[in-house]
Amino acid sequence: MKIIGLLLPLLLCLSARAADKPDLALTGKLDGRDNQTYKLVPFDVPAGVDRITIDFAYSGRDEKTTIDLGLLGPGGFRNNAFRGWSGGNKSRFTVSATDATPSYIVGPIAPGRWNLLLGIPNIREKAHAEYTAKVYFSRNGRIPDLLDEPLRAQAGWYRGDLHMHGAHSDGSCTPQSGKGKVPCPLFVTAQAAAERGLDFIALSDHNTVSQANAVRELQPYFDRLLLLAGRELTTFTGHANLLGSWVPLDFRVGSAGVPDWNTLLRNAARLDGFVSINHPIRLSGEICMGCGWTAKPEVDMRLVQAIEVVNGNDADTAISGIPFWQAQLDKGYRLTAVGGSDDHNAKQWSESRGAIGIGTPTTVVHAANLSQHALLDALRAGHAYVDVFGSKDRSLEFTAKGPDFDAEMGDEVKLAQNTKADFSLKVANVGGGSVEIVIDGRIANVIDQPKIADASRTFAFTWTSDGHRHWLRADVRGADGKLSLIGNPIYVNRVAPAASP
Ligand SMILES: [Zn+2]
Ligand SMILES: [Zn+2]
Repeated sequence: MKIIGLLLPLLLCLSARAADKPDLALTGKLDGRDNQTYKLVPFDVPAGVDRITIDFAYSGRDEKTTIDLGLLGPGGFRNNAFRGWSGGNKSRFTVSATDATPSYIVGPIAPGRWNLLLGIPNIREKAHAEYTAKVYFSRNGRIPDLLDEPLRAQAGWYRGDLHMHGAHSDGSCTPQSGKGKVPCPLFVTAQAAAERGLDFIALSDHNTVSQANAVRELQPYFDRLLLLAGRELTTFTGHANLLGSWVPLDFRVGSAGVPDWNTLLRNAARLDGFVSINHPIRLSGEICMGCGWTAKPEVDMRLVQAIEVVNGNDADTAISGIPFWQAQLDKGYRLTAVGGSDDHNAKQWSESRGAIGIGTPTTVVHAANLSQHALLDALRAGHAYVDVFGSKDRSLEFTAKGPDFDAEMGDEVKLAQNTKADFSLKVANVGGGSVEIVIDGRIANVIDQPKIADASRTFAFTWTSDGHRHWLRADVRGADGKLSLIGNPIYVNRVAPAASP
């Protein structure tokens, strides 16, 4: 019986991500004598903490007891360490060097004695109240679960744009007067993405993370649009998005601290970041400085998670990232194909009626829920496809069933020589188009009738393994012959490349 008692919680932990536990729980009692007073609740912040998040609860609200909140760093007001006051309007807040909940002040987290500041505007003479402040310390830029609660709890296919620029870099749009261009406020960007019907966007301004604080304010309002932490690492020898972290990172590839891209990528890996190489096939020059991928020495692709195979509307052009991506897959790397609009004008999509701008292309991700960690986990796993024109409803589901596996896009399976697997390709809302199965980078003639006669169709083929390493994926072309959906591979017998010297 004891063993079962131990096993059950363990299994529950494996099936669902365990929530963070608070580092401290500060508790206390108040009564009528505390009416209209201020109290300090001290707590010690260890070195290395870069974010404090506080979740506050108290009893007695039914008796009109009210407790206001504020925060003081080491030395308090006298040391210019006042970190904000939210009165009775927020029960949960966070402060860090890059972002803070509105009412609170962004700044470094100094180790030492901090104080939660309580104000008690009302507690009746005979009333009693108890409060608990759960304090969460973050390190290494980790965003606690408390700040990453899913916007939508259910598993599903979520549509978003992983690459765009706004006021925090070189994104601009027409101001109120309609004349000229100004740095485009993040609100306009988020509003455009919401109107476009997207579920998530990554705010990938060039090298900076100043957008983090605006995100902290905007996210509660955009409760159907997840705003992913992002930046575009923009160097003289290539661009790559780093998603999932707001920690500032030295991007100066070629300087003393960051001699090469591998150093930068290793630093990004320490932040649990998700890295995609952007628009790899561009000519670098005076028109687009550092845009092409010319990293020397060659990067260790194991430090990269994705390739941006479509940037804006380049899918069927000579500068498409698809051949670059497929060349990496052929070497044995497991890299997720993603798309990004690289939009620099949030109003562009509405002015152009959606043909370009935010959401073109869209990356569609099969995630456990709509939260940052679930989306990035799904992207790392390759459970995604690119919708080149950013439709709202075109879909591609490529799966494989073997003797001992059910696989979806991005999965790795083992299939012994002369063993068969049944592949299935379900396509929706690309009527008049056709499908292509790509095996090891070449279009394979495994489907007799590749036309999609109706709006939606399911294709199937059986494939026999030769015991070697292969990758199989599917693309869909529209009725006009243009690439419409780009699927990620199912990897068979993949052998990961050895460590580079
Ligand atoms: Zn770029
Ligand atoms: Zn860009």
